[in-house]
Parts: sequence; structure tokens; C-alpha cells
Amino acid sequence: MTRVLVLNCGSSSLRYRLFDGSDVLTKGLIQRIGEAGGDAADHREALQRLMDTVDLTGLAAVGHRVVHGGDRFTSSTVVTDDVVATIEELVPLAPLHNPAALTGLEVARKLLPEVPQVAVFDTAFHATIPPEGVRWAIDREVAERWGIRRYGFHGTSHAYVSRETGRMLGKPVAETNVITLHLGNGSSATAVRGGRSVATSMGMSPLSGLVMGTRSGDIDPSVVFHLHREAGLPIDEIEELLTRRSGLQGLTGDNDMRTVLERRDQGDSEAALAFEIYCRRLREYVGAYLAVLGRVDAITFTAGVGENSPVVREGALGGLEALGITVDPDRNGRNELIISPDGSPITVCVVPTEEELEIAEEARRAIGSES
Ligand code: AMP
Repeated sequence: MTRVLVLNCGSSSLRYRLFDGSDVLTKGLIQRIGEAGGDAADHREALQRLMDTVDLTGLAAVGHRVVHGGDRFTSSTVVTDDVVATIEELVPLAPLHNPAALTGLEVARKLLPEVPQVAVFDTAFHATIPPEGVRWAIDREVAERWGIRRYGFHGTSHAYVSRETGRMLGKPVAETNVITLHLGNGSSATAVRGGRSVATSMGMSPLSGLVMGTRSGDIDPSVVFHLHREAGLPIDEIEELLTRRSGLQGLTGDNDMRTVLERRDQGDSEAALAFEIYCRRLREYVGAYLAVLGRVDAITFTAGVGENSPVVREGALGGLEALGITVDPDRNGRNELIISPDGSPITVCVVPTEEELEIAEEARRAIGSES
């Protein structure tokens, strides 16, 4: 059996993709679950709808995207009652993300009881980051007691595109060092040494690091204390401010990079500044990860912005020739797979991410039927 169903549950959505090997047989999105006029009343109904409309016979596994695996899951895991209980225990670490995945897991186990269910964690690829890249300089006991540390996210994407980059360079994974820049609605940068993540920009949650569509990325934590004490904002409101009303959204009122770039082209100074802030943060992380890795073979852009925006790629890496980084304007403008000139010390790549395919392959690996 080579068929794998991949489920990605959001709080009000169910994204699915059915694979046979690496071929996509069907895919879809059930939206506004539980909302008036939405596609389904709850996740159970959504999955039932999927089962009624898509032939799910002969499934080898169902692969579930789970955002947070904490320090309990360092690889994809076949789901048992214990695994569900542990993911439940991790909800406080990812209150905005894990509950939806749990719902999906539970419903799929009930409706497809004979099919192995595999949890594939966004955090797992980053389990190889050494302690000095994981721990923050705060009270050791408090950190240990409350699980305060970097976990990192977008792991399936960073794993997939870093491996693809090695393949494109024709080098063994174990000898390839890559900086991967996943720039979508959520964004993160990762340093990958020999196929293993050694640094990443997201932290305990997907809020830190790069400037994103609606998330702030790195800020001084004192901002939170100040807003609470001086502006009198309750903590939930500050969380909402930093996760939903910040990033490009906060800077310009638009969370979509395409709109921000159009406004910038029309001479909008807020949009122009937002673009500069976005690109500068990227350069800061690229510089940091060049130093972490020491030797870098490639820098790879992926996800919605990374795959489609020559302007952002030029903005992030332009003028770095002295560091061995050159972006060829023609190749960049055409979104080619390699956008640096031939013979550059560091190859700059654009690799479309395939998170669902990676989840399907992880699910197959986890049940031991890799073929
Ligand atoms: P993702 O989360 O990977 O689906 O990425 C979604 C984001 O990609 C959207 O919010 C857009 O801002 C961005 N995007 C898609 N196409 C383009 C484009 N041609 N130029 C700039 N940004 C784009």
C-alpha cells in the first residue's frame, strides 16, 4: 500500500492531500468549519465529508501535521492513546495551534480505526539544534520547570528544501551547509549543517524571528511589560496584538506581501519602510547563520514570498558580493531554481516547498513501509 492521506487541521479549516507515492491523487480545503455558512459544522463532519467524496480505501497511513512536539517528540510518531495524551499535555506550549491537530487526530482515529495515524511535528527537525542554540540566558530552574526554550517550527519545510538544495548542488547531504529561508504568511530562517538543523529563528512559539504577515518576529520582551503596565492592556490582548496585528499587517495595514509591494511601487512610504524592515531582518539572520555555519554552500528561498518575489530576494541578499553572495537579476526575475551566477561561492536557490509530500514521506518512514 502506497497511499497516504495528509491532514493539516487549523482551528476552522481542514486541508487534505491524498498521495500515491509522490503523486497527488486529490487535494482540497474545507473552510470556515463551525462558522455560520461554513463548509462543515465541526471537524468530524468535515472529515466525514472527505471520506464520502474521496476514495480512501487502501490507505497505508494518515499523516497529521502537528505544530508543537515540545521536547517529547523528536521525530514523527505513530499515534497511540499515550501519544494523544502527550500532545494534549503540550497544548499550553501551543494554545493557538495544537488543539486543532488534536481534534483532527481524534476524529481520524475514530473514522479510520484500521489505518495507522502518524503525527508529524513542525518542531522535530530542530531537535538537533545544540543546547547553546536552544537555551536562553534566563534562570535555569524556571526555564526547565516551564519548558522555556527554543523549539523552532516549519521543520518539514526546512528539511525538505535543504535536502532538495543538496540534491540540486549534487553534493551528499552530510557535506552540505544551507541557510533556508521559509517566507510565507509565517516565516523562519534555519541554518542546516550536513542535513541537521543547528539554528532557527522561531522560538518557543512561531512568534519570534523574522517579520511575518501578521506576527511581529523578534522584539524586546520589555515591550510586553510596558504595554501591560503603561497602556493597561491585558495579556491576551498583547498576544493578539503581536500575533495578529503586527508584522506587515501592523506596519502597513496589509498582511499580504503582494499588496505591500504594489503600494511601495506607487510611492507609499509606509509600505516602503515595511519592506526595508522585512528585508533588514532577513539580512540580520543570514549574517548570523553565515557565522554559525562558518562555511555555507547555499542559501535557499521557499514558500509564498520566497518562491515568488524577486524584489524580496534582492532586498534580502543584494550587495553581499563581498560575502560570496550574488543574485543574478535575470535569473532572479524569472524565479529560476538557481538565481546566483554560475561559479558563485554560495549558490542562491529558489526551491518550492512541499510540506504535505514531506509529511506523507515521514508517515511512511514512521510506519516502516518506505518504498
Ligand atoms: P504561504 O504561507 O507560503 O502560502 O505564503 C503566502 C504569502 O505569500 C502571501 O501572504 C503573499 O504575501 C505571498 N506571496 C505570494 N505570491 C507572491 C508574489 N508574487 N510576490 C510577493 N509575495 C507573494
